[in-house]
Amino acid sequence: MADTAHRDTGAEGVAGGVGLTALLVAAARAIETHRPDSLAQDTYAEHFVRAAPASADWPVRPCQVPDGDSDPLWGRFARYFGLRTRVLDDFLVQSVRAGGARQVVLLGAGLDTRAHRLEWPPGCVLFEIDTEGVLAFKHEVLDALSATPRTTRVPVPTDLRTDWVSALTGAGFDAAVPTAWLAEGLLFYLPGAAETCLIDTVDRLSTQGSALAFEVKLDEDLLAHRDSPLYTSTHHRLGIDLLGLFSLGPRPDSAAGLTDKGWTTSVHTPFEFTRRHGRGPLPERNDALAGNRWVFATRPRR
Ligand code: SAM
Repeated sequence: MADTAHRDTGAEGVAGGVGLTALLVAAARAIETHRPDSLAQDTYAEHFVRAAPASADWPVRPCQVPDGDSDPLWGRFARYFGLRTRVLDDFLVQSVRAGGARQVVLLGAGLDTRAHRLEWPPGCVLFEIDTEGVLAFKHEVLDALSATPRTTRVPVPTDLRTDWVSALTGAGFDAAVPTAWLAEGLLFYLPGAAETCLIDTVDRLSTQGSALAFEVKLDEDLLAHRDSPLYTSTHHRLGIDLLGLFSLGPRPDSAAGLTDKGWTTSVHTPFEFTRRHGRGPLPERNDALAGNRWVFATRPRR
């Protein structure tokens, strides 16, 4: 498959390229953990941030963000990640408890510690797919903390632009078992064709009772907000050029594609959840979050 979005193969880990974005989300989760009105708790997050030279001096506590929520990066953007973490925690917990899923696949898992943080029913298996370098860094940090997962956790180092299905099935994934899939902060880094291929593959590997949540960005909004405070502060203060990492070509309508395949699908703005939870980002002018959509899909049982 063509690799037009980013060139690293995973060897770079969290030191640069798209792998570095995993540290950005971890720092946001560390800050969120210590807010008095926290929506999600991740006590491992700050250890990842401190362990990587690229992020060792980033804030991990609200008191290290003097401008608070008015800081476009460690205030508003970090609040966004805190909200996203909580909403997708809830999606996964609901999918295994009420929905009956017994496998979880985190696509582009990054430094997600849901295997360690959330309560899982007996017999649940959680697969984490990311590049070799990111997963190696993650294990180094978790091992040093003697962190124990609360369910069977299976790392699957592979590149999602290649044949990741062989790696997943080789790791024990069973397509006959209802699965909760999550692509959080991933799809806009992949070329449109790779996104379509990934969603088609998830469809093919999903038996009845499976569920999928993913995040997309509407392509027409991407460049319209290139000078927004969120993009410019991330670039200038951290050296992470998100627009340079995103795959900027036309995006597929993956939610519509799943509806056509018989999935029940709903599409939401993050702002809907801000209103529901009473905290998180709200719309503003020149807003890099304006085109973000969170999609929830289930394959109904017949
Ligand atoms: N889902 C995690 C979270 O929200 O904390 C990580 C999000 S981070 C913004 C994006 C992650 O996607 C990174 O860990 C990166 O390594 C991974 N990723 C991007 N492209 C990938 C690819 N082609 N194959 C495997 N992983 C990829």
